Amino acid sequence: MRLTRIFLLTTGLLLSLVTSLLLRSVWADWRQVGAAELGLAAMQRAYLGMKVAEKASAERGPAIPVLNDTDPPDPAKRARLADFRRTTDAAFDEALAALAGSRDPASTSARAQLIHARQELGRARIEVDRVAALPHAQRSAPGQRLTRGPIDQMFAVIDTVLGAVTTQSAAAEAVYPELAMPLVGARYAAELREYAGRLGSQFTTPLATRQPLGHEERHEIPLLMGRIEQLRKLISLQARVSGAEAPLQAAIATMEARYFGTDLPFVREMTERGLAGEAYGLDSAAFVARYVPPMKTIVELRDALFAAARDAARERVAQSRRHMAINTALGLAVLGIELSVFLLIRHRVLLPLLRSTQAMNAIMGGRVQPSDHEPPITRADEIGDMKRAVAALRDATLRSRALEGERERLIEQLRIASDTDFLTGLPNRRAFVERAAALLAQARRHGWPVALLVFDLDHFKRINDQHGHPAGDAVLRATAGLAQATVREGELLARQGGEEFVILAVNCRPEQAAQLAERLRATLADTPVAAPEGPTLRLTASFGLACAEARGPIDLDGLFHDADRALYAAKDQGRNRVCRADTAPLQAP
Ligand code: GH3
Ligand code: MG
Ligand code: MG
Repeated sequence: MRLTRIFLLTTGLLLSLVTSLLLRSVWADWRQVGAAELGLAAMQRAYLGMKVAEKASAERGPAIPVLNDTDPPDPAKRARLADFRRTTDAAFDEALAALAGSRDPASTSARAQLIHARQELGRARIEVDRVAALPHAQRSAPGQRLTRGPIDQMFAVIDTVLGAVTTQSAAAEAVYPELAMPLVGARYAAELREYAGRLGSQFTTPLATRQPLGHEERHEIPLLMGRIEQLRKLISLQARVSGAEAPLQAAIATMEARYFGTDLPFVREMTERGLAGEAYGLDSAAFVARYVPPMKTIVELRDALFAAARDAARERVAQSRRHMAINTALGLAVLGIELSVFLLIRHRVLLPLLRSTQAMNAIMGGRVQPSDHEPPITRADEIGDMKRAVAALRDATLRSRALEGERERLIEQLRIASDTDFLTGLPNRRAFVERAAALLAQARRHGWPVALLVFDLDHFKRINDQHGHPAGDAVLRATAGLAQATVREGELLARQGGEEFVILAVNCRPEQAAQLAERLRATLADTPVAAPEGPTLRLTASFGLACAEARGPIDLDGLFHDADRALYAAKDQGRNRVCRADTAPLQAP
């Protein structure tokens, strides 16, 4: 498997692993936050339930004077009761609204309990109104105790409401076991408030009727006091166990001082008088005015306990959110780092590796040009070393290619030099012999006639002697130039050596060759040559011509031999003329 593929696969695997870990952790945190929020909401709903209990309990206060009202009824008492009823209804509305949106079993059950309690309260109110509408004499007849029934119905409402509170409180405790103490404490305080209220209620009828405590009160008061004492102990125990904070301790101390320190002794004193049949020394309203206000300290303690639980729960929610935020941030950071490392390795290692491989392939395949622009290598790491090595390889390859080119050029130069006469630039004898062989082969293939013309400058030595060697050289160059201009394409002109030249013409009949020789002879004779820094020189040349039919193999040496003999003949006959090998001079000058 290729490295890039392995790298991609492992990176993908790592990324998905980290992502799934991150998702798991965030999911767990999310659920924790959700649970903490649900617990907090349950706590708040429990508190709303406690408020309902408090308000429904308080409604008994104005209900009792209405029940005990004399004829004609006092509208102020009824208005007060209506006010209290509205307050209770508002508390019910609020608690039920808070429960409306929740689908969890605890909320559903608490909601059912509250609805039931509200129905019970509705029935109790009807009963209150019914009894209150009876004539006073009928209600207050000794032993009738008609007013007791509706009040007992109202007690039952509180029991149902406290049931709903317990359901919600338990749901909150399940999420916050460590907050069980303040939550249970708050519920105990709510109960305590209820029993304190009931205790007070025991005196309403005896006080209103100025009667000693009846059979029911005698039975109820010790029970209620026992229950109150029990709740007092439970609350202080909860506070001690939890090492309650200063505001809580202060709330407990206030309750101890005001309710247990003044209210309860007052109730005991009233009880004793009621039992002994003594005068109570105050009426129902005065009793309420004295007994009820200190009960507020119980509600305050309840609120302080609830506030402690709620604040701790809020802190837990905030803590869970922080935890989730930190976990998410850390997870995202890990993901980001991993992704960056992936990109870094890809860009700084894999891609350079790939490009270097391509570069090396290009070098080996000869696809690199010296003009190719290469950016400078600035990296100082291992990849930089590799790139520098590739660049060095490229340079070395380019250098060796350049050297090879130079060598080939020199060889070509050498080849040209070895074939060329350096003075005139014409092919030398060696090149002539080589090229002549090819021309003769061609002539033979086609059956063309061939002609060999050899010419030699006349009295050339004199030019050298009289005007110097450079002048001789100039004459040789001029001769070469004139001859070159005279021959046609396909006719091979060469310098034989010294001041002797040769022309091989294929597909050239003897008459045509003779004309060529004559043309050249005349041209040389008619063209003066300017020697460097010297006079203008005239020159002539003698020509020897040999012809052959190309029916069989042509012997170049034989042709030369014949042409040389004809040349000698031309010299002998006075120079500046053309002689054919087999004939006399073609034309006299
Ligand atoms: P003829 O008419 O019988 O041919 O007389 P000639 O003087 O031309 O012949 P000869 O063979 O006596 O002299 C040839 C001279 O050509 C001798 C030599 O110094 C001269 N020569 C040969 N090659 C060169 C050359 O490359 N440059 C110059 N300047 N002179 C050359
Ligand atoms: Mg000569
Ligand atoms: Mg000569």
